[in-house]
Amino acid sequence: MFDNLSDKLDKAFHILKGHGKITEVNVAETLKEVRRALLDADVNFKIAKDFTTKVKEKAIGQDVLTTLQPGQLLVKLVKDELTELMGGEVAGINLSGNPTVILMAGLQGSGKTTFSGKLANYLLTKKNKKPLLVACDIYRPAAIQQLYVVGDSIGVEVYSEPENKNPVEIAQNAIKHAKANGFNVVIVDTAGRLAVDAEMMDEIERVHKAIQPQETLFVVDAMTGQDAVNTAKTFNERLNFDGVILTKLDGDTRGGAAISIKSVVNKPIKFVGTGEKMDAIDVFYPIRMAERILG
Ligand code: GDP
Repeated sequence: MFDNLSDKLDKAFHILKGHGKITEVNVAETLKEVRRALLDADVNFKIAKDFTTKVKEKAIGQDVLTTLQPGQLLVKLVKDELTELMGGEVAGINLSGNPTVILMAGLQGSGKTTFSGKLANYLLTKKNKKPLLVACDIYRPAAIQQLYVVGDSIGVEVYSEPENKNPVEIAQNAIKHAKANGFNVVIVDTAGRLAVDAEMMDEIERVHKAIQPQETLFVVDAMTGQDAVNTAKTFNERLNFDGVILTKLDGDTRGGAAISIKSVVNKPIKFVGTGEKMDAIDVFYPIRMAERILG
């Protein structure tokens, strides 16, 4: 994961490790390399610039050059800042509703259906919940079918109304069904499009308003880099979502989305998807991710 970024950061810190006496110039060069590494990882320019400015201020504030191991201290400052950038604390999921309603939003292909299954499986096996999966895609029968395959594989019931073309009604009926049958979490998988369009946004907004979910989760493919961040912005403006799910972190992603999405939308990454299987889900820990990036 993020091998390229890790390699480049490692090289950046070599500048410091190679010198007997470390000067201000060495530190400035290192931070320039750090910034370049972030930009190469598809982190937005302003975020990368602010990042190195903050680290530099801290380095000056802590008199890095006068410490015994300035290189190590600088690595620590970078790690702390990366952790902060990705959200600081781990963000939990709000399961307070009865039933808890979770709305999944995102583009087609982002991994919504797969993640709905993973989350249901996680809540069933790790949190002792009884989840219901809801198929709210009224355009693609194959999407409903896919959710049944997912539900079957983890032993979770799927609710659908293939004849009904009103996603608001389907979602509302599903919640009634859940209440009547003892389900305490309802995960609503919605229709996505290949790109942001007005109809999709209107539809998800209507569903959102009607069912008032405890958690609205925006699912995005980490491999799409800056596009992921821009799509997040658009969805957040319409839905004011509660958290981000970054999928396909097992793929060849450069890391930009993971690093910058929190500071752009000011919403935490809650989970990551790391594969196609139902157990390939991880709670997102900013500090662990920063440690991983810095190797
Ligand atoms: P949806 O259109 O948003 O519902 O997306 P899907 O759930 O159908 O996922 C699209 C494709 O991405 C499928 O082939 C999934 O198997 C794959 N996929 C989803 N999540 C992950 C992940 O975390 N890692 C990998 N490698 N593939 C994933």
